[in-house]
Amino acid sequence: MDVSDLLNDLNDAQRDAVAAPPGHMLVLAGAGSGKTRVLVHRIAWLIQVERVSPHAILAVTFTNKAAREMRHRIEDMLGIPTRGLWIGTFHGLAHRLLKMHWQEAGLVQNFQIIDSDDQLRLIKRIVREQGLDDSQWQPRTVQSFINSHKDEGKRAAHIDSYGDYYQRTMQALYQAYEEVCQRSGLVDFAEILLRSHELWLKKPDVLAQYRKRFSHILVDEFQDTNTVQYAWLRVLAGSDSQVVAVGDDDQSIYGWRGARIENIQRFSEDFPVTRIVRLEQNYRSTATILKAANAVIDNNPGRLGKELWTAGEQGEPIELYAAFNEYDEARHVVDRIADLLRDEQCRRQDIAVLYRSNAQSRVLEEAFLRANMPYHIYGGQRFYERLEIKHAMAYLKLIANRLDDAAFERVVNTPARGIGNKTLEQLRQFARDHGCSLWQAVDGLQAAGELPGRALNALLQFRGLIDALDEKAVDLVLEELVEQVIAGSGLLAMFEKEKGETGKNRIDNLQELVNAAASFDQDDSLELSPLQQFLDTAALDAGEGQADDYVDSVQLMTLHSAKGLEFLFVFLVGMEENLFPSRMSLDEPGRLEEERRLCYVGITRAMRKLFLSYAETRRVYGDESHNPVSRFVREIPAELLHEVRMQQAISWPVSARTQRPAVAQQVGGLALGQRVFHNTFGEGVVLQFEGQADNARVQVNFDRQGSKWLVLQYAKLEVL
Ligand code: ATP
Ligand code: MG
Repeated sequence: MDVSDLLNDLNDAQRDAVAAPPGHMLVLAGAGSGKTRVLVHRIAWLIQVERVSPHAILAVTFTNKAAREMRHRIEDMLGIPTRGLWIGTFHGLAHRLLKMHWQEAGLVQNFQIIDSDDQLRLIKRIVREQGLDDSQWQPRTVQSFINSHKDEGKRAAHIDSYGDYYQRTMQALYQAYEEVCQRSGLVDFAEILLRSHELWLKKPDVLAQYRKRFSHILVDEFQDTNTVQYAWLRVLAGSDSQVVAVGDDDQSIYGWRGARIENIQRFSEDFPVTRIVRLEQNYRSTATILKAANAVIDNNPGRLGKELWTAGEQGEPIELYAAFNEYDEARHVVDRIADLLRDEQCRRQDIAVLYRSNAQSRVLEEAFLRANMPYHIYGGQRFYERLEIKHAMAYLKLIANRLDDAAFERVVNTPARGIGNKTLEQLRQFARDHGCSLWQAVDGLQAAGELPGRALNALLQFRGLIDALDEKAVDLVLEELVEQVIAGSGLLAMFEKEKGETGKNRIDNLQELVNAAASFDQDDSLELSPLQQFLDTAALDAGEGQADDYVDSVQLMTLHSAKGLEFLFVFLVGMEENLFPSRMSLDEPGRLEEERRLCYVGITRAMRKLFLSYAETRRVYGDESHNPVSRFVREIPAELLHEVRMQQAISWPVSARTQRPAVAQQVGGLALGQRVFHNTFGEGVVLQFEGQADNARVQVNFDRQGSKWLVLQYAKLEVL
């Protein structure tokens, strides 16, 4: 590629940044101004013009999706394979490092990543083992105590409890948790970073090797780095690497998870920055969208201050819809999307629906399902979080690592093998007393003759099954191994017995796991078995939903996961006080500002047109709430908004049109929007009612089976 091509489609400020002479650089600019573009072009420039080896470059992105995009763009520009490039998220890169230096990092070779669900389960167990009441020492609180300390680089041993009982107990729980993880070869997300930071500090020779290797480090979304990430970078960079940090203080949205906006400030102090680049032209959005974003963020005090402008057109006004309730809102969104697809000739994936909280996705999903419109959820109902997938993965994890207690607990009696709670409790006790894994505890208890024959047999059979699968693994390709595990474990047979659609769906999902294994792209440069790589990638990727990636579908996600992305059309739903900004944010100092930045992120995802909506009533935890329209909507100048009238006739559930709504909303102890459980169909949401007394029927949209009409008196629905 010609050098001028690298610079051609850039403006002057961007060009300056891309072709800057050596030195640390900070690119500080608003949304859609081409920060990520500058970063990508800079990498290409370094390789093409400065003749820097691709191996000497380390680039950090915020999501794996962004990393993949970056790779593709560099490959397109330079026509070279990007395998040798270290491009990834902090977690992904740190994990790779730990895999290569597991020994120096004090880990076992086949350590496993646990997601936050597994972590929570483990913590719950530990709380109980310590003889504490888990209603008082809530596992979630303990989990966030542990994670936030890890994010700050602190081990249990670093915490000073000042003799305070609460602190002391939390510290002890943290310590017990550390011990169990260490013993079982388990590593949580925060641990990945902390551990690799410690690796730098404890093993100077390893550090020296990487310092020498990475002469260039580039970080996107720098405003959301946390303490450990920053420290990790700083140590790695040393005094010789050149660092490019790219960010926007107005888009810092992870303060609640330990991100430090001050790191931008610190960066210019800790690194002698030779160049600060400001980009002010926005290339993404229409002038209308940009004006709205600027007006909203302008309400935040203490900004570094920058105003974006665009040479683009005025564009259409922002549409604001006042919905009657959340169902009406969802229906409106789906209707408008259908209009767009018809009138604008766009693809579904050009359209995003963004919401503040994951829970909002359910009602939207129902509307999409009803309209038969493909949608894809990032986060939320993730493939790897489905029950059957977690079971199958637990078998695979045990095959890779017998010490994985979390996996052992999950499947030792799934499908049922007659291993009861009592036996499990014995195993746990033994493991606790002897500091060993549950797997090893079986041997211990066998030697001590403390297990009844039947339980012992069942346990030995279970272990034999895992060993046998492991032996087969040597000769099988990954896909076949997964297939054998699903059949050999008995999971397939178990779900085949499950009645109706549920079992079928689960089997489909398991089949999908085999597909995932078949299309898994292993990295030959790592000396790891394909199984191990597959497990690691699944754990890291879980948050990014892969299930239906290939179908063109409307993109649903939380505002948080939309960072860095752009779409032609964006719907921001649930624009209500107490929802967005969230109620919690109103009590804590600084949180409202973070919510406003989140709103700024949301608005600036839109390229051509933005749609806002709010519901006048909404069910939150079973109660109807009436919240006024969000202050963020009121902060947008009225002349940019076009209000769409509420359409009374279709606001009500169909059957309720002729009745008084208060009556129709509540039948037989059930309410619209309520979550219920049905023996055969599982969990679902009440959509509407019809008829009365013995004839009363209810329509329920079941999570797995879709919507069904049931006669109320026979349905035996359990309210959840
Ligand atoms: P965010 O803050 O949301 O991460 P960003 O600053 O990283 O945004 P990019 O995603 O790099 O911005 O760019 C936004 C859009 O503008 C992209 O579609 C990009 O291709 C386009 N763009 C950036 N610079 C230019 C340019 N000089 N000419 C034309 N288009 C550009
Ligand atoms: Mg970007």
